[in-house]
Amino acid sequence: MWGNKDNDSLNKMLRTQLMNYLVGDGMSLNQLSRLTRKTVKELESDLNHLEKSLKHKGARLGVDPALCRKCGFEFPNTKLHKPSRCPECKATWIQEPKIFVKDKVELEQDFND
Ligand SMILES: [Zn+2]
Repeated sequence: MWGNKDNDSLNKMLRTQLMNYLVGDGMSLNQLSRLTRKTVKELESDLNHLEKSLKHKGARLGVDPALCRKCGFEFPNTKLHKPSRCPECKATWIQEPKIFVKDKVELEQDFND
């Protein structure tokens, strides 16, 4: 079909871009959305694809869970969306979950042992 090849290379570029953003401290979905001008929904599907290609390279996506900035409550799930309020203290001052690429170098060192 027409256009498939273009889409593929476009996706590849985006995935490389995403990976560069997510190496190190990582970023929240909203930060990524601002940087890539994509919607959070689009990014979620992109991240799924990215995770698949990372697996082939022996790396993984990790998520730092959301935190309540008021009482420090750590949200137990690893959802990518920011929860609206803290179940403990009802505060809405929530630190967004951060997505990051788990250190590939570390994984490679494991393989060398
Ligand atoms: Zn709280």
